This record gives sequence, C-alpha cells and structure tokens, in this order.
Amino acid sequence: MNNMGNRRVVLDPGHGGADPGAVGANGVHEKRINLFIAQEVRRLLEAAGIEVVMTLDTDRNLTLAERAAITNRAGADCVVSIHANASGTADPERKARGIETYCLPGGPAKVLADVVHEFMVRATGAPDRGVRTNRAFYMLRKTDPPAVLVETGYLTNVAECALLTEPTYRFKLALGIAAGIIAWLREVKS
Ligand SMILES: [Zn+2]
Repeated sequence: MNNMGNRRVVLDPGHGGADPGAVGANGVHEKRINLFIAQEVRRLLEAAGIEVVMTLDTDRNLTLAERAAITNRAGADCVVSIHANASGTADPERKARGIETYCLPGGPAKVLADVVHEFMVRATGAPDRGVRTNRAFYMLRKTDPPAVLVETGYLTNVAECALLTEPTYRFKLALGIAAGIIAWLREVKS
C-alpha cells in the first residue's frame, strides 16, 4: 500500500497570538517553535502525498475548543499537537531536557505515539523521556481520531533551548514527526 493520497493528517501547533506558551531560557516563545516545526512537518507530509489540515498556520489566537472542532470536522486519520516543554519548581536548576510524547491511556493512539516518539528520538539524538499517558490534555480528550501530543524539548534548559532555536535542529524534529506519522499510516491504516 503505497498510495498515501487518501490520507489526511491534522497538525496542531500549540499556542499562538496572545498566548506565547512557554518562554525559553533565551527569550524565544514556544508558539514560534511549534509553528515552525508544524509547517516543516506539513511540507514533508504533503511531499509524501498526504493531505494536511493545520488548526492554525499563522501566529494568532485559537482556543482549544476551536482546535478540537477543526480536528473533528477534518475527518482525519490522526491529529498531532506540537509543543515544547518547560520545567517548574521541581527542577530549580533547569536540568530537564529531552522528548516526551503523550497519548490517552489504553487508546488506539498508543501505537502512533510509540512510532512518532521513536522516530523523533532517533532523528535528533535527544534524551528519551518516554511515551506517557495523560488524561489532562484537552486535545487528547476532545478529538475523535487517534491523537498524540509531542513535547519536542525543554525551553527552560539552556542547551536544549539553544537547539530548539536552530532551524537545522527543528528540521530534524520535523523529519522525525513526519517519518513517524508516515510509518504509522503505512502499518496501521493500509
Ligand atoms: Zn505548549
């Protein structure tokens, strides 16, 4: 099954507009990093013949409810929300770094989370903080297709924040996300 022409993926870059998301050690706003990575993932998926729906593709306000509504109208095979992480008071020296991928416990998105996570870690060499389940994320709870949320790195870590600010590193993340989605579509949805 090589034809990806009837496949549709929703990409959801986190935050935007008045909501910057996390603010990095070097001042960069999470919303910019998320949008850049999502746009690269879109280009890669479209090059593979996959239709892509973006919840937003410019820096603007968009509520979680609107994001979920766009996703559920799209009739997509899956949705991937793209974020960058920030550690809190439990990590006063801001040492936390690496990639985490989230899905709901016990759902069909676990396979998607596993494969996207594996490809992201492989593409970047970033520390592997694992696939985790979480019921708190709105985009995981309120969307119909298999949904995952990727945390591409810790903006609060000085070194990882510097990497996330580099276009070449962000492209590696995008390659990992896109390769994981394509592998999942081939395996599970063919
Ligand atoms: Zn975020």
